[in-house]
Amino acid sequence: MLNDFLEDRGGLLHFDGCDLVALAREHGTPLYLMSESSIRARLSELRLSFLDRHENVSAAYASKAFQTLDILGLVRDEGLCLDVVSGGELFAAAKVGFPMERVFFHGNAKTGAELAMAVDLGVGRIVVDNSSELQALDSIARARGRVQPILFRVTPGVDSHTHQKISTGTIDSKFGIPLDRSVRDGYIKAALGMGGVSLKGFHFHIGSQLFDRGSHLLAIGIALDLLAECRRDYGFIAEDLNIGGGFGVRYIESDHPPPLAYFTDAMMEAIDSGCSERGLSRPRVIIEPGRWMVAEAGVTLYTVTSIKDIPGQKKWIGVDGGMTDNIRPSMYEARYEALLANKAGTPRSQTVDIAGRCCESGDVLIRGIILPPVEEGDILAVFTTGAYHHTMASNYNRVPRAALLSLREGTARLSVRRETYEDLIAREAFP
Ligand SMILES: *Cc1c(COP(=O)(O)O)cnc(C)c1O
Repeated sequence: MLNDFLEDRGGLLHFDGCDLVALAREHGTPLYLMSESSIRARLSELRLSFLDRHENVSAAYASKAFQTLDILGLVRDEGLCLDVVSGGELFAAAKVGFPMERVFFHGNAKTGAELAMAVDLGVGRIVVDNSSELQALDSIARARGRVQPILFRVTPGVDSHTHQKISTGTIDSKFGIPLDRSVRDGYIKAALGMGGVSLKGFHFHIGSQLFDRGSHLLAIGIALDLLAECRRDYGFIAEDLNIGGGFGVRYIESDHPPPLAYFTDAMMEAIDSGCSERGLSRPRVIIEPGRWMVAEAGVTLYTVTSIKDIPGQKKWIGVDGGMTDNIRPSMYEARYEALLANKAGTPRSQTVDIAGRCCESGDVLIRGIILPPVEEGDILAVFTTGAYHHTMASNYNRVPRAALLSLREGTARLSVRRETYEDLIAREAFP
């Protein structure tokens, strides 16, 4: 099985102790499942291998990977920090009473209204991406008699060798401030002279689904040079160095992501030794795991609705979901493993393609997967769907968004109800 929380019990696939066929029958499909036990296992790994192993470090959960009020409550109770990237994500965090001083507000095109909301709520760090934002934020904060703590998002100019659509650290990236001296000089001098903002340090995030620490280590060297130059040139001492997320997870059998400590031990060693070589006192180090925290905690269930054999070509298996609940295959050719939950013990004998239900030829969930003989009504379980699925869901073709259950050791609890047809038209004015 792909992860420790999946189990074949007499031919019936179970996840976190719950019978998936029974859940599909009771709640309908498509159905998102999130294993709380899996998320808690990641939280304890995070604690053991990072938070408890080093002084003056923080971890911010990048909630765009998976955000519900439920998980915000869990992350709040665990004492972690939180990344948000929009007014909507910030609103939800405020709803659960998330301590705002532990929030980092990211984004390359924040609106004035979002900046004002963040300042009013007392967000701990706004991560400033560009000069328009810097100017706007300074005026907003001054108008309120406030001084907003900020970090600058910088692009270390490192290629993380991941898919282009999830690579974010190169010089021409839409994210962040290039470290070219002529550019960054202007930013740092401006921020240090402003009454509405207080520069606390720097942030970079170089990509996602990384299995190798090399790019992070390169970027760390570049960031430490920046800290040393800031002290020399402006007398500015950074309190925070936020080194982003991107830690990889297992989607398919051949993925072998390293443990978190593979990244963080080497990163902390590089930061500690790099600081002492440069005579810097080490800033607080923040990491931002998103996908790593939740991806493997997710399973999506579908019902097989159609089977189409094109002789000599391929066999299509049609399911009742697709790009509306999982955009990743169409957006970046993401690959997945799946099983028939009601035939978990049946030998796999035929290669099929899993077609989503939307009116797009590109809506194909899985190409070339080997399954047991498939029949209409079978329950297909797709694995590692916890990150960037629920949060990226759409209503294309007016498909209602799926319900989401939170599982823990054999019990299932409704976390997000299924959207209704009435929900789909609720916002529309129709004279
Ligand atoms: C998306 C994002 C993350 C999390 O990325 P993962 O690959 O999900 O770990 C962390 N930091 C920032 C700034 C991000 O935009």
